[in-house]
Amino acid sequence: MATAYIGLGTNLGDREENLSRAISLIESTPGITVIRKSSVLETAPVEYLDQPDFLNQAIAIETEIPPDELLDALLAIEKSMGRKRDIPKGPRTIDLDILLYGRIIMSTERLRIPHPAITRREFVMVHLVELDPGLADPESARAYKDILAEQGKA
Ligand code: AMP
Repeated sequence: MATAYIGLGTNLGDREENLSRAISLIESTPGITVIRKSSVLETAPVEYLDQPDFLNQAIAIETEIPPDELLDALLAIEKSMGRKRDIPKGPRTIDLDILLYGRIIMSTERLRIPHPAITRREFVMVHLVELDPGLADPESARAYKDILAEQGKA
């Protein structure tokens, strides 16, 4: 059994509803228990700028599903919620990312853990610290709260 952290993002349709629907679909997946939910933050788009603001949230789960199969389950939820991949980094009903999976470090063609967006996007670290103030980056062993403090945001 591992503790993993999932990041959620949405900027199309009823964004609050998209977040709660995705979380209940994750919750109803056999082998996954949602143990904590972060607050919801509104964030401006990055990379592809001509699109609405996002609502972002993160959750902590306990799971016995291995990382690769967890990704499949999350992609199936994205698909069931009508996500289309028209523009890379463009508007989406729901985006689900595996941020952390225990202390696993892996990099394959379809899966990078820790997710590279964690240290690139401040709000992701804010969410992780909210879910577990002691959480540290498995690669550098540095606590996310210290990385945030260094950036002057803690
Ligand atoms: P995007 O739609 O931009 O979020 O990209 C989705 C793709 O990113 C997925 O199909 C995965 O193959 C890949 N990916 C790589 N690492 C991760 C991760 N940690 N969590 C979710 N997707 C990942």
